Amino acid sequence: MNKISHYLSFTNKKRILSLLLTAVFVFVFLTPLQAFGATPSKKVVRLASGTKYQTNLYVIKSGKPGPVVMIVGGVHGNETAGYKAANKIKDYSITKGTLLVIPEANKLAIAQHRRYISSMGDLNRDFPRTAYESADNTLSKAIYNVVKTYDVDWLMDMHEGYDYSINASTSSVGQTVIYYPSTSTAKVAKKIANTLNSGISSSSRKFHLLRYPISGSLARSAGQFQKAHSFIFETCSKQTLATRINQQVKAANCLLNELNMR
Ligand SMILES: [Zn+2]
Repeated sequence: MNKISHYLSFTNKKRILSLLLTAVFVFVFLTPLQAFGATPSKKVVRLASGTKYQTNLYVIKSGKPGPVVMIVGGVHGNETAGYKAANKIKDYSITKGTLLVIPEANKLAIAQHRRYISSMGDLNRDFPRTAYESADNTLSKAIYNVVKTYDVDWLMDMHEGYDYSINASTSSVGQTVIYYPSTSTAKVAKKIANTLNSGISSSSRKFHLLRYPISGSLARSAGQFQKAHSFIFETCSKQTLATRINQQVKAANCLLNELNMR
């Protein structure tokens, strides 16, 4: 072997070695990452895209297997603490599973600071009332599709009422966790109420539990027809806004803690 051919063969060996090392790196480090989806990610999906109802869905993936939790605010446009709290939760990072947040479900109603816009009616009565029915309109269809597409395990819908406890004259259900019955949902609902109540001294201002979100509501349809553990969380608008936002966030944190996602 002369000097030049010896040099070429040395260069080739170096090339082959570096290719081999690259292949080993890709196999050892990148393959498992892809196989287990270990890269955390956040993205925004536009629901009812291009329509006047368009609103954001935040998809927060931990990259690790775990529950799919959906948190919704602003289904009713005048229930401010719900959408303010959900807007905080959309910035969360999680340690396992997937967190879906729709902070401002009904943007048109929020802009008017009304429960709903007159042309559409109450969004929380627009979800399927039977297993075979579809949601009533563009916005409720888009939101309900999220429950189905992501196979949501837990759903929390943030609302507000006028009173601390049930009041027939204002049709308020008060400060409540209204859940669709299942053993594990009841357990988490109780945990949320107890956690909130531990900071409330007045017995008339404590949170209580109710079962069966009203027919046509997101929580009812998701619980009854999509097998999600679902509940409505209601704060009382007689409290300051800061207190109510804090209570909504605390309830959401309690749910995520119970699922070991934070
Ligand atoms: Zn409401």
